[in-house]
Amino acid sequence: QIPVITIDGPTASGKGTVAQRVADQLGYHLLDSGALYRLTALQALRRGTDLADEHALAKLAEHLHISFTGEAIFLSHENVTDAIRAEEVGNTASKIAALPAVRQALFALQLGFRKAPGLVADGRDMGTVIFPHATLKVFLTASVEARAERRYKQLIAKGIPANMEGLLMDLKARDDRDTHRAIAPLVPAEGAHVLDTSTMTADEAVVQVLAWYAA
Ligand code: C5P
Repeated sequence: QIPVITIDGPTASGKGTVAQRVADQLGYHLLDSGALYRLTALQALRRGTDLADEHALAKLAEHLHISFTGEAIFLSHENVTDAIRAEEVGNTASKIAALPAVRQALFALQLGFRKAPGLVADGRDMGTVIFPHATLKVFLTASVEARAERRYKQLIAKGIPANMEGLLMDLKARDDRDTHRAIAPLVPAEGAHVLDTSTMTADEAVVQVLAWYAA
C-alpha cells in the first residue's frame, strides 16, 4: 500500500509550503490539488466560459493538458506557475470548485498522483473525499488575520500590489464558500490531526507533521 499524507486546510494556512517541504523531506510526490481547480479556472477565464455552465466547465476540467515539472506548472505547454496564483484565478477556482461535475471531472486525475514511494496531497478534501484511507491526515489552520498577513507578504515580495483589507474580505468570502458548500465542504477529516499555525513557522509545522508520521 503506497502511503499518503493528506494536508487540508483553508486558503493561506501555509499548507502549500508545509506539504512541499514534507514531500521533499520524505522524497514523496506532491499533489497540489488547488492547482487543478486554479488551472480549470484560468482556462475558463481565458476562454470566456460561462461560470454558471457546469457541464462546459466539467468538460474543460476533464480535457486539461497539464504537466508538473519540479515546481513549475504547465497548461498546454505554457508555463502558468505565476498566472494561476492571481487572486482573480483563486476566487474563480473557489466558485467552480462548488460544482459537483467539476469535482467529479478532477477525481481520477487526483488518484493518479498516488505513486511509489508515497504522496503528500494538499487541498480541502484530500482526507475526506479523495484519500479517505490516508496513512496520516492533517488539518492545517490559522486565524484569518494571520493568513491575510501571510498572503500580503507573499504578494508584496513578488512585487504585486496588495491591500490588507481587501485580502481579509477575500479570505473570509472564500472560507465561507469553501466551508458552506454542499459538496466536499472544508472540514477536518475523521481522524485528522488539527494544527493551528497562527504563531508557528512553516518549519515548525513540518517538524510536527513528520513527528506524527513517524509515530
Ligand atoms: O488551495 P488553493 O487556494 O490553491 O485552492 C483554490 C480553490 O480551489 C480553493 O479556494 C477551493 O475552493 C478549491 N479547492 C477545492 N478542493 C481542493 C483544493 C482546492 O475545492 N482539494
